Amino acid sequence: MLDLKIEGGLVIDGTGTAGGRADVGVRDEEIVAVGNLDREAAGNRLNAAGRVVAPGFIDMHSHSDWRLWANRRAESKIRQGVTTEVVGNCGFSPAPTATEFLDDLRGFALYVPRGMDFHWRSVADYLTALDGEGTAVNVIQLVGHGTLRIATMGFARRAPSTAEVSRMQGLLAQGIEDGAWGLSTGLIYAPGSYATTEEIVQVAGAAARRRGFYASHIRGEGATLLDAVREAIRVGREAELPVQVSHLKAAGRPNWGKVAEALALIDGARAEGLDVMADVYPYTASSTTLRTLLPDWALEGGLDAMVKRLGDPEVRERIRRELAAPVTGQSLLDRIGWENIMISYAPRRKDAEGKRLSEIGAARGLDPVDAALELIVDEAGKAYMILFQLDEADLRRALAHPHIMIGSDGSALAPYGELGAGKPHPRSYGTFPRVLGEYAREQRVLSLSQAVHKMTGLPARRLGLGTRGVIRVGAKADLVVFDPKRVGDLATYEDPHRYPAGIEDVIVNGRFVIKNGEHTGSLPGRVLPSPWRGSS
Ligand SMILES: [Zn+2]
Repeated sequence: MLDLKIEGGLVIDGTGTAGGRADVGVRDEEIVAVGNLDREAAGNRLNAAGRVVAPGFIDMHSHSDWRLWANRRAESKIRQGVTTEVVGNCGFSPAPTATEFLDDLRGFALYVPRGMDFHWRSVADYLTALDGEGTAVNVIQLVGHGTLRIATMGFARRAPSTAEVSRMQGLLAQGIEDGAWGLSTGLIYAPGSYATTEEIVQVAGAAARRRGFYASHIRGEGATLLDAVREAIRVGREAELPVQVSHLKAAGRPNWGKVAEALALIDGARAEGLDVMADVYPYTASSTTLRTLLPDWALEGGLDAMVKRLGDPEVRERIRRELAAPVTGQSLLDRIGWENIMISYAPRRKDAEGKRLSEIGAARGLDPVDAALELIVDEAGKAYMILFQLDEADLRRALAHPHIMIGSDGSALAPYGELGAGKPHPRSYGTFPRVLGEYAREQRVLSLSQAVHKMTGLPARRLGLGTRGVIRVGAKADLVVFDPKRVGDLATYEDPHRYPAGIEDVIVNGRFVIKNGEHTGSLPGRVLPSPWRGSS
């Protein structure tokens, strides 16, 4: 007797091959039968006629680790069909921590919801705390290099000593022992940006010895994109571990077209025998904290020091000069004008949300640079922006490449409560249905089964996750049932807090989280420890 029989759907199994009509049988947490199951009795049945049955989607690049503390229902992700999220990206993870540098970590954090109290120190204690109350989605944790550096030396803008490198290596090794899957870096974010390639190679070596992988928000995504991709590949070669280039893009009009060259570098590295892949989100705008516009030195010592510094007119003048000055031949304004930067989150200055820096400046009688600096100070460094700076042709090229998978770079949000604030990038609500609807069905940039593969089997291969990302007997019952004719994103930049269309049933570890389009309140997701935990 089956617990659940999903009947008559088009099963696209995640391997990249075309789908076929089949029933899927689930018992407890596992898929136990695939095929014609007419004769099988089942406690529960779901009619999937006219719909696709796919493995639950794996969001290869997520920042939900912070937001899950505010809402464990993971609304904006589970409603896209995401059943597993890879978190701890771009150098940011909530653990490990050191008591003396806790305030630095809070300042560094992408978003600290009410209720996130940092009572943990180790990755083990953190994961136990997260897992304890359950989540709607499964969680795969990476350890952030920025977090490791803060736990070791705070926000210091200098090279680590030999002892400090050893401490970072030790913390990372212990983090992987505790269940994390690898190391992430954010090389545009202080203090990660203070690190040399040699430091990254040394720290990453501790992950390599435990079979972890390296995910990087690389050091430049504009004028210096290709050097930055080369640096990521070099870390893989020298530290001997797989490399995941995060949210591949060529930012700024003068750099459009460079994604082709970046993909050629990745192909070249693969031909050399290195395991290099990348992920992408299906939008032509990016999003990050507003303070990322500032030169590196302005963030030295952490956010409080930064806010204090920005009060000095001479500092402001120096920032204005540096933003106007070309770096590698391009200034910020050559790459992207103020009119292409929209404020997406500014809880103390709600008037600014949804507006461009050019408009905000004009309305306040300020130069846009001063409007930006004022916002950074008013929000104590926690404001977010959306940058309209990417090329559609680059995006299509990345989506079509065989070793590029899908990652939202977003978080699990909700249209209500604390997480419904602001006008966040729509990727947190629309990434997966947008690939299926806009890029597979409408634009035919890739086939439906390729699109599903990039959300399931391919990230599972990157992770070494044998029992998910695929529909076969013995796999975990993480499943999504969607209507291929209707599936699509509805979230926009103007109106981002909107769930997608066409995804009515989502199952995590054998239990419905979305049923007939409604959240059941069930929290069957769990923290997935890496398969190599305790192997050293
Ligand atoms: Zn990033």
